[in-house]
Amino acid sequence: MPLKNVATQSATGQGAAIKFSHIIGGRKVTPEVHEPVINPATGEVVGLMPVGTVDDLDAAVKAAREAFVLWRLVSDTGRQSACSKIAAKLNDHAEELARLLTLEQGKPLGGLGSRWEIGGAQAWTAYSGALDIPIKTIQDNNEGRVELHRKPIGVVGSITPWNFPVLIASWHIIPAIRAGNTVVIKPSPNTPLSTIRFVQLLNEILPPGVVNVVAGDNALGAAMASHRGIDKMVFTGSIATGKKIMASAAETLKKLTLELGGNDAGIVLPDANPSQIAEGLFWGAFINNGQTCAALKRLYVHDSIYDEVCGELVKLANTVSIGDGLDEKNVLGPIQNEMQFRKICELVEDARVHGGRILTGGTAPENSKGYFYPVTLVADVNHGIRLVDEEQFGPALPIIRYHDIDEVIARANDNQNGLGGSIWSSNVEEARKLALRLECGTAWVNKHGAIQPNAPFGGIKNSGIGVEFGEEGLFENTNIQVVIS
Ligand code: NAD
Repeated sequence: MPLKNVATQSATGQGAAIKFSHIIGGRKVTPEVHEPVINPATGEVVGLMPVGTVDDLDAAVKAAREAFVLWRLVSDTGRQSACSKIAAKLNDHAEELARLLTLEQGKPLGGLGSRWEIGGAQAWTAYSGALDIPIKTIQDNNEGRVELHRKPIGVVGSITPWNFPVLIASWHIIPAIRAGNTVVIKPSPNTPLSTIRFVQLLNEILPPGVVNVVAGDNALGAAMASHRGIDKMVFTGSIATGKKIMASAAETLKKLTLELGGNDAGIVLPDANPSQIAEGLFWGAFINNGQTCAALKRLYVHDSIYDEVCGELVKLANTVSIGDGLDEKNVLGPIQNEMQFRKICELVEDARVHGGRILTGGTAPENSKGYFYPVTLVADVNHGIRLVDEEQFGPALPIIRYHDIDEVIARANDNQNGLGGSIWSSNVEEARKLALRLECGTAWVNKHGAIQPNAPFGGIKNSGIGVEFGEEGLFENTNIQVVIS
């Protein structure tokens, strides 16, 4: 049922700041309190985020519970058709969403920026929305019939981060509704506006209450995780917050999908060709300014080609233009927020103090209005410094020298995170074997961070619980019921 009563909420970055509203039960709900959302490239106000209260959250959960009664009964083809309409809607509004995303997130419109993110949301929506949820016959013989059915769970609570707000919202929402659940989403307070607009567009297609958005601060997220009316939480964000969500969700025994932090290692073998792999390494590390869960965050290069690989990466770094994402010539924007900006400055300074050799970058420009930081490559570092041991989540890559394969695999695995990893070599067969020795959810050969809608994605160790994408990701939005007759 189309949503008639929601006026368009969009922002231009010019003129008076626009007040955005929650969307609850298909209607705009405008609270008393709003907070400014800041463009990290300019410091200007992009729009005003509605600050939700626990009452707003309760109303959203109630709307989602009411909508669940009918949405769960809609046929598979009915829900697949709704998802296909959503993909088309994203396509129709791609440019508008991309501009709003650039304004609040900072990423450039072009390259691997906002248009790419909205295109990704559309591609994932089309793929996951079309998946089947078949009934599996486990046994059918003289002794009886055993069927495995997958049923919706109920109300899914979604909490998203600020690095890919629309793409990650689509990863949470679409499989949930495809499987027959209803959703309450809380976006990051740093980047809530593009998600609100996305949910508004969804409400032009879906019945009221199937997808609701309540924006607000971190306390609202905590209230979701412990809410009695929410049956499952899907969360993408830091490990620290993931642990808090798990603790809050324990009381109500909610199902959880947690996509958490990463500190992915990439290992360059001695037979790799430095000029051929340089671009893949570079964008594996610096996509979205390194503010990417499965970016390459620790690069290990064999001693025999160490200097050559470093040289190729410096050459590429010097070609990258960084600036306001609205300017089409820029391929990287600012760091998204002040806290993250300060963290990168600190980690690079710490590496320098501990003997790191800054090959390029390493100092933020003075008198900039935005949180700009150059692409930074730090050589001659090792474990035991923060830039290597911690997730930097920014544009600073430590490059570590190694001599022995067994030793480098052990060092790559010596980390609490286990999201992604990669092996770079001219011998793909051998590289695949080594990839299997990496302790991570996804291991790539001669690429890094290349995710796709049909390949389940998730972390091991502290990087998370469960997977998203593909059939396995869709099934995380279902309860199994076995019928034995
Ligand atoms: P964050 O954990 O600070 O915040 C994420 C969300 O959690 C925000 O919406 C925030 O408001 C909310 N939140 C904060 N405290 C909460 C609490 N106590 N209870 C419930 N919700 C709470 O993360 P961030 O800084 O927005 O994102 C960066 C992190 O996300 C990085 O560690 C990155 O690796 C990770 N990440 C992981 C993936 C993945 O798929 N594994 C993808 C993207 C980002």
